[in-house]
Amino acid sequence: MSIQTRLLLVYAAIFGIVYILSSLVVYSLPRNQILAQIDGDLYSLASEVLNSETEFNDATGIIEIPLPEDLATLETASTFMMLVNRDGEIVVSSGNLRGFNTLLDPDGLGQEDVYRLVRHEDTQLRVLTAPLFDNQGQLLGYIQVARLLDNFEVFSRVLARALLISLGTAAASLVVVFIMSSRLFRPLEDITTVARQITRADDLSRRVPHSSRTDEIGDLARAFNQTLERLERLFRSQQRFLADVSHELRTPLTSVRGNLDLMRRFGQYDEESMVVIQDEMERMSRLLGDLLLLARADTGGLPLRHEPVELDNTLFEVYRQISRIEKPVTVELTAVDQAMILGDEDRLKQLLLNLVDNAIKYTQPGGSVRLSLSKDKSWAQLVVSDTGIGIPAEDLPHIFERFYRVDKARSRAQGGSGLGLAIAKWVVQAHGGAIKVDSVVGEGTTFTVTLPLYQVPARPGANGQAADAEIKTRPGLRGRALPGTLRRGQQPNEQE
Ligand code: ADP
Repeated sequence: MSIQTRLLLVYAAIFGIVYILSSLVVYSLPRNQILAQIDGDLYSLASEVLNSETEFNDATGIIEIPLPEDLATLETASTFMMLVNRDGEIVVSSGNLRGFNTLLDPDGLGQEDVYRLVRHEDTQLRVLTAPLFDNQGQLLGYIQVARLLDNFEVFSRVLARALLISLGTAAASLVVVFIMSSRLFRPLEDITTVARQITRADDLSRRVPHSSRTDEIGDLARAFNQTLERLERLFRSQQRFLADVSHELRTPLTSVRGNLDLMRRFGQYDEESMVVIQDEMERMSRLLGDLLLLARADTGGLPLRHEPVELDNTLFEVYRQISRIEKPVTVELTAVDQAMILGDEDRLKQLLLNLVDNAIKYTQPGGSVRLSLSKDKSWAQLVVSDTGIGIPAEDLPHIFERFYRVDKARSRAQGGSGLGLAIAKWVVQAHGGAIKVDSVVGEGTTFTVTLPLYQVPARPGANGQAADAEIKTRPGLRGRALPGTLRRGQQPNEQE
């Protein structure tokens, strides 16, 4: 059952119950009140007549009731009165009943006072019939007093009509509500239709209408469109990623197959081909290693240690490692502050090696690479700058994307997979930091990494220095074997 039908049914049911109850109250309450008032008047009149000096003549069986003087005035009034003997015959009646030979209420004769509504042709009367007894309790006759109910009838008719009109109005309002609610729910139907079309056509570029509305339906349409946008972006990047991965794997495989074919055709071992094959295999294993790392990082399956790390020591270690490698550029440490952060030392080394590796790769022989570490308030700042080829401004916003390379051929020839900066960015973000790049084509590139400093917690009873000294001499952080040599297991001098 649709929400619209359900709403209408609930509305109709609530309205019906409220209407019936209120109609009963509105119709019967004033009616009863008016009748009660009339009954009171009739009773007073009957009492007035009977309480005046009524005399019973036991011997003759005659009652003498002196009728009030004003009984004649009843001729014009809407009040009637008659006395009836015990046989039901009219003894006397008020002047306005002249020519009226039937009892006011033939069915009301009994042992008790009775108030009844009695209809005489077109008129309705309220009649009180009260029995009259003698001193021995013998029934002598009856007094019947009545009042015309013209006004009362008019009132009842008007009331019934008013209730009918209000019922009609309510039914009309139900129709209006039905029309309005179907208009109200049409946007939801539109949204459902578009959602179905999207599913059927597998077309995430479609958007649902009504997103400019300012009500809840507009909110829903906007939220739905935002979800679609995000899904579309994810879907596209996944497709691009898959295409990139297959392309990256196909290139080295083609090269390996070509060299193997060559050796088979000439039937002899070729040292040059073997070197190429080995290089390509290494490139593939590096690529797969990087892919695996990013995939695990994406799914949260890459645990990151949170230990105090002396960033200056890490930088020295990376520098020492680089220094041992033969390279066509000079690498120098300019300024190194002491800085401790909370994190994973292996990942931080990987970050530094990725940046330094790039700086060396993309700098012409004779150029220089500078490394520095400084502190700024509660942040550590690592800078890796080079005097290399630089990155064009239009490429800068993309270089942290997976597989994005400014010069594909050059990067691949250098052994790059296009994942190094994506990994660097992930490491920085996982440590709560930020990475930015400034570059001028032909002049050089500067990567700046900011990481939150670790505030050594003050120990009760010991000053800050003692706690600091304890952490600095903590075993296990120093001298740990690097996860590989240079980035992704590659030596810079092997690239040439
Ligand atoms: P790659 O494996 O291709 O080096 P990265 O993700 O490490 O992949 O880098 C992405 C791209 O950014 C590189 O292909 C290169 O074009 C550019 N790039 C990165 N670092 C530098 C740098 N220091 N100088 C110039 N270009 C750089």
